[in-house]
Amino acid sequence: MREQIQLLYDLQQIDTRLARAAEELSKMDHGAKLARQAKAAQKELEELQARLHAVQTDQRDAELAEKTVEEKIERNRKRAYGGEIANPKELRHIEQETQALERQRGALDEKILIAMAEAEELAAQVAAKEQEFREKVREYKKTTAEQKSRQAELEAETARLKAQRSELCPRIDAAKLRLYESLRPAMRNLAVVALDGNTCSGCRVQLPSKAVERAESFTEITRCDSCGRILYGGFAKPHHSDDE
Ligand SMILES: [Zn+2]
Repeated sequence: MREQIQLLYDLQQIDTRLARAAEELSKMDHGAKLARQAKAAQKELEELQARLHAVQTDQRDAELAEKTVEEKIERNRKRAYGGEIANPKELRHIEQETQALERQRGALDEKILIAMAEAEELAAQVAAKEQEFREKVREYKKTTAEQKSRQAELEAETARLKAQRSELCPRIDAAKLRLYESLRPAMRNLAVVALDGNTCSGCRVQLPSKAVERAESFTEITRCDSCGRILYGGFAKPHHSDDE
């Protein structure tokens, strides 16, 4: 009987580890969240780059327009002070035109300054967003590589545990195995539990001393009065001792 109860306990350890591996595998997102974040950062980066480009184009256009205006002003100056125009009316006309051109130049100057400031601000935003994007891509690569190797580990562990399980099960009496399997789904995958002093470690209810004695003697299957789990009266294996 001792061997049978020990086998049930060992089977429980295998199933607990199988469930843990399955749960960890199911929680893996394979970098999906980081991939979404990287994609979002890339989209924002492209939008900022497009805005920067538009502002820089505006600035260049204004600079070209200003150059043309300055050339016109210079030409008018030469005509007005070159002495070739004697007609005062025509001179006044040139002067008025020059004044209008100078106002245009002022407006263009302002436009250029605003565009320069905006471009500087956007360039800083582009640099920060580029940094963020690169960071997300790096995190994504790191996470997927880590998850991939962890996945391989868990899959190998699962295969090993399943092999152990199919080697172990035939050694357990059919009726005991049926009891174990019938308890497991209702008991959150925990059909066999160790004693914790005189307490059931499954439901934490204190056990009568008779039940504790019976479990510790291994003479028959002892079940917790409260939750119905099979009690194991031997030394509980620490959680990660089973990597043999
Ligand atoms: Zn219990």
